[in-house]
Amino acid sequence: SAALLIEDLVKKFGTGRPAVDGVSFDVPAGEIVVLLGPSGCGKTTTLRCVAGLEHPTGGRISIAGRVVSEPERGLLVSPRERDIGMVFQSYAVWPHMTVRQNVAYPLKHRRKANGDINAKVRETLELVGLGDYAERPVTSLSGGQMQRVALARSLVYRPQLLLLDEPLSNLDAKLRVHLRDELRRILKQTGMTGLYVTHDQTEAVVLGDRIGVMRNGKLLQMAPPGEIYNRPADAFVANFTGASNVLLGKVLGRTGETATIDLGAAGRIEAWTPQPLSAGDTARVALRAENVRLGERGDRNVFSGRVLECRYQGMQTVYDLDLGGQRLEALELGTAARHHANGDIALTLPPETCWAYRD
Ligand code: ADP
Ligand code: MG
Repeated sequence: SAALLIEDLVKKFGTGRPAVDGVSFDVPAGEIVVLLGPSGCGKTTTLRCVAGLEHPTGGRISIAGRVVSEPERGLLVSPRERDIGMVFQSYAVWPHMTVRQNVAYPLKHRRKANGDINAKVRETLELVGLGDYAERPVTSLSGGQMQRVALARSLVYRPQLLLLDEPLSNLDAKLRVHLRDELRRILKQTGMTGLYVTHDQTEAVVLGDRIGVMRNGKLLQMAPPGEIYNRPADAFVANFTGASNVLLGKVLGRTGETATIDLGAAGRIEAWTPQPLSAGDTARVALRAENVRLGERGDRNVFSGRVLECRYQGMQTVYDLDLGGQRLEALELGTAARHHANGDIALTLPPETCWAYRD
């Protein structure tokens, strides 16, 4: 059975829209699932319901096949009895203890034998790269090191499930990237099952075996990173993961997952669609700036545009284009701007990188 199973989870705070609104997904053992979404979409509340720190309003949560929360049956297992590890945004370490004492604490608390504790603490400190820091007072460490202590403390007793709530967001940019990549290695090396919450797309892609995109308390799509990026199920998912271009048009027809859309003066575009669009519908076509092929005439979706502005940014150039009265942004990697403003240009929008949604 799944290490974590969430079925139709609802959490309301007072009246109004629920903070979590009918969320369902599972986390198989050894997998890392990332919940990704903007601030306020219900990620932390979902995590806190799993931990038992919030009392759900409805639905069911099971950990390793055991139901830990089901309000309809008056069932609620306390946080202590859930065998969960948690790492938060703030560095939750005990300031009056050394690094070793911090990491040993959960084992002492669980009444493990002393020899056993020492070996496990040493092994876990090595794992998180703090092998040489065992006897340091925890307050002498940097933010990144304190977060490693917090991580070690929640890994040392090998909980069935590790919950991480934006653990890197208080670190500076360079450290965040470093610890992010290392976190992936540590979690995979230990075979931990994890539920990780973030608003950062790159973090989600690096860490997640699957990503669940949330908005307004609802889970919009749960899929491996490649699928979220290449087949966004929803216009919000497309936009949140970086498809900043939106072209408006009217659906002319649809064959399977390919829709043909009239963009007005720009002409017709073919686009992939996950929705049952039909002729006459108003549609939005979303696409990434980096998928615009400037100066190319492909087999399909060839357009004529005009360069309004080009912004050279060193390793890349961003172009603002006019496409039959609609705006289109294009991005080219490379150290030179190849196209210049006020010129007409042919461009191709590969159909598999154009995604159509009902407006
Ligand atoms: P996220 O972690 O995605 O930023 P949260 O789960 O923290 O989102 O919050 C989801 C929604 O629930 C927000 O509208 C937030 O204001 C509300 N909320 C969270 N905790 C409480 C609380 N203890 N009391 C009332 N409203 C809350
Ligand atoms: Mg949060």
